[in-house]
Amino acid sequence: GWSAVCPSPSVLLNPACEAPREDSAALLARREAHFAGPQKHYYEIPPQIERGWREFLFDMEGRAYLDMVNNVTMLGHAHPRLTAAVEQQWSRLNTNSRFHYAAVTEFSERLAALAPDGLDSVFLVNSGSEANDLAIRLAWAHTGKKNMLCLLEAYHGWTLASDAVSTSIADNPQALTTRPDWVHPVVSPNTYRGPFLGPDSGADYVASVTTVLEAIDEKGDGLAGFIAEPVYGNAGGIALPDGYLTDVYAAVRGRGGLCIADEVQVGYGRLGHHFWGFEQQGVVPDIITIAKGMGNGHPLGAVITRREIAESLEKEGYFFSSAGGSPVSSVVGLTVLDIIRDEGLQENARVVGDHLKAGLAALMERFPLIGAVHGTGLYLGVEFVRNRETLTPATEETADICDRLLDLGVIMQPTGDHLNVLKIKPPLCLSAESADFFVKALEKALEDTV
Ligand code: PLP
Repeated sequence: GWSAVCPSPSVLLNPACEAPREDSAALLARREAHFAGPQKHYYEIPPQIERGWREFLFDMEGRAYLDMVNNVTMLGHAHPRLTAAVEQQWSRLNTNSRFHYAAVTEFSERLAALAPDGLDSVFLVNSGSEANDLAIRLAWAHTGKKNMLCLLEAYHGWTLASDAVSTSIADNPQALTTRPDWVHPVVSPNTYRGPFLGPDSGADYVASVTTVLEAIDEKGDGLAGFIAEPVYGNAGGIALPDGYLTDVYAAVRGRGGLCIADEVQVGYGRLGHHFWGFEQQGVVPDIITIAKGMGNGHPLGAVITRREIAESLEKEGYFFSSAGGSPVSSVVGLTVLDIIRDEGLQENARVVGDHLKAGLAALMERFPLIGAVHGTGLYLGVEFVRNRETLTPATEETADICDRLLDLGVIMQPTGDHLNVLKIKPPLCLSAESADFFVKALEKALEDTV
């Protein structure tokens, strides 16, 4: 475990640090000159992070921050047990995954044991995008059909197939005009601000899916499957209406399609009350995709499915990933699972998540700008609106609040298609004290900006 007792965030964080962000500004300019990756900046001068520890990050100028958005470093930053396991494996063997070694066998066994009965075949890849791409290819291979249903305002990755079913206009403004013709988006069942509200909204959302399915039926070229996160992730983890996935999965399977659950963000204990997101809906998917937290920042992704679906890929082509499930990746994956179990991180996500949600709900009574607090476990969303009746998104206010939070020592970013949501997804080791610090900081940010 951790070598020291967790200090309180008020000891660690130094909001009074007045050091100018000169080094961070200089590195930002150099980054933009040559780094072709995402240049999306939420802050004028984003802190250049130098090191992390548990749920805290430290920048070049010596400031400390509470990391409330990290959905990748699930165990916490620089976990000593994981570091030791990686060091040991790196110094013995890391190699092309075509060789045989025990770690990949053990890791596949562990993942199969965590998945529902019957889902016992595991592919190991390096990211969520790859996992979703492979899941779609499996659905194509198994059904011999191409048409895929996906939800609007969802993100599943950047590779060709995963990007095709990603419809979040915040991530990709062209998303709706460049769809390949095998992609059929359906309205996301957002029970807070979707087209259907109220007690019958679940049935209305299912009916809107049926309409799209009937249009596909009419064309007669069949259905390969349906991909969705089992929680409405884009705006902060809103639970899907009761029974939604049960009905949609039945309609998809009735047409021979396969159901893919994208657990990249919500799986692995983050929801606290369940290990998998689909458990919240009481369904069992045909294919599960995972990534992000399963490697605690090390590139690792997986697809878990039934043997006959896995075998169908052989008809369609070839699967091989040079580093997917490499010795180091497999040891990382196994150690992450050991730590989640031994440190009770799912339980911590439940207990601290419930505590944090209660703190946020109390703030909501004081600040009308908070329209809703969504989510469960350590996957929460605070949605800001200018008016609780019209739900007008408070986009500029959300940006100001995030800027103020940075000054107060909290890393947080606006999200959702209106950029009016704080999506809270900290490391699962978040202490109750850090959760309280966050609520206090948010209270101060609200007082200062609205
Ligand atoms: N699926 C979901 C729900 C995601 O949030 C993401 C990444 O943000 C992905 C898939 C893609 O994962 P990766 O960035 O590891 O390729």
